[in-house]
Formats: sequence, structure tokens, C-alpha cells
Amino acid sequence: MGRYFKDIWEGVVTVLIGMRITWRHLFTPAVTIQYPDVKLKLPERARNRLYVNMDDCIGCDQCSMACPVNCITIETLKSTPDVDLGLTSVGTKKRLYVPRFDIDIAKCCYCGLCVYPCPTECIKMTDVYEFSEYERGNLNYNFSVMAHAEIDAAKAKLAAYEKEQAEKKAAAPKPPVAAATTPSAAAPATPGVRKPLPPLSRPAAAPKADPPTKPDSTS
Ligand code: SF4
Ligand code: SF4
Repeated sequence: MGRYFKDIWEGVVTVLIGMRITWRHLFTPAVTIQYPDVKLKLPERARNRLYVNMDDCIGCDQCSMACPVNCITIETLKSTPDVDLGLTSVGTKKRLYVPRFDIDIAKCCYCGLCVYPCPTECIKMTDVYEFSEYERGNLNYNFSVMAHAEIDAAKAKLAAYEKEQAEKKAAAPKPPVAAATTPSAAAPATPGVRKPLPPLSRPAAAPKADPPTKPDSTS
């Protein structure tokens, strides 16, 4: 019988303890938010989706070389001397077209290593973290702003320029060849190569003198 009332008492106490916690939380401010209508403020320097400002990109490839998972693909194209591609916002002269600048964000591990070496600070982390897709291929971002026609025109122009330069080089007069002279008299000494030494002339050996004869002690 004592055990029966003890169990009832423990049940009542346990319920009261549970209800105490419940009542306390009823008057505590909520810690959850109504995502996606409400969003938390991201911490400073949070690493999320990358963005590349192609107006400032000089195609130096440093970001791609720093990426540990090879998710950045860059192709560049030389401009001809008559084309001025302008300056970046930090004053660096642009000399290369960038017909391809892809980041496969599906492979990206958000390490941020591509951001630090960029000399023009044009690749950066944004605060965008909601970019899920149904197709993995949609996560391969293309940042190049060059149209196909523009790329073809730049390639054709570069090919014509290189051909012209090659023709000019082939048509240029060749420098006269210097008259051949005897190598021993005029050829410059090759650095590091020693001239052969003349043969050693040794003095002729003197004829050996006969040893003096001992006086005969018996005579
Ligand atoms: S954040 Fe890291 S993994 Fe992502 S593109 Fe940059 S270097 Fe590559
Ligand atoms: S490091 Fe910067 S400037 Fe160089 S290719 Fe990458 S984004 Fe462009």
C-alpha cells in the first residue's frame, strides 16, 4: 500500500516539474525564426557563393592555380597591340581577353583560397547561400561576358596578326655571316675549354760513365 501512494506522489511531482519547464518557456523569447521569411544575419567574412567581376579580371589564372579542387576553369586570348582593353578599377592594364571563366560551384568547398591571391580583388565571396538546383550542371557558373561572335573575331584577329608578324620575320634581311678564318688564329677561345698544352721536351739523358775500376790489390 505504501508503495502505491509513493508512486502516485512521484507521478504528480514529475508532472509538476515538467509543467514548470513548459510554463517557463511560454514566457521566454523564441529562438527559432520563420525561415525563409526571416533570415539570420550572417557573420562577417562568411563564405558562400563566389562572384567574379569580369570588368576587373585580367586573366592571370592565380585563383585557378590556388583552388585545391580545380573547380575554376579559365581560358584567355591575347589581344593585338592596336586593341586597348582598358584598366581595372585598381589601375592594372588588361592585356588578355577572358573568353571562358567557369566556376563549378558544385565542387567548391568554400575554402576561400581563390579570393586571396587575386591581384585586382575581383573574385569574392557573396552573402548568397541559397542556390540549390535540381540539375547539377546548373551549378557550373559562367562568368565570361564575351559573346561567341566576339570570341571568334578576337581569335581571327590574333591569328592574322601572328601570321603578319611571321611573314615580316621571314622577309627581314638576314645578318651577313662572318668570313671563316683558321680556327687556331681567329676563333675565340671557348670559355671553360683549355688549349692543348705543347708536348713536354725533356733534356736528353747523359750517357752513363763507366764505374771506376778498383786497383788490383794482388799485383
Ligand atoms: S572557394 Fe576554394 S574550392 Fe571554391 S573555387 Fe575558391 S579555391 Fe576553389
Ligand atoms: S586571380 Fe583575379 S584577376 Fe586573376 S584570373 Fe582570377 S579572378 Fe581574374
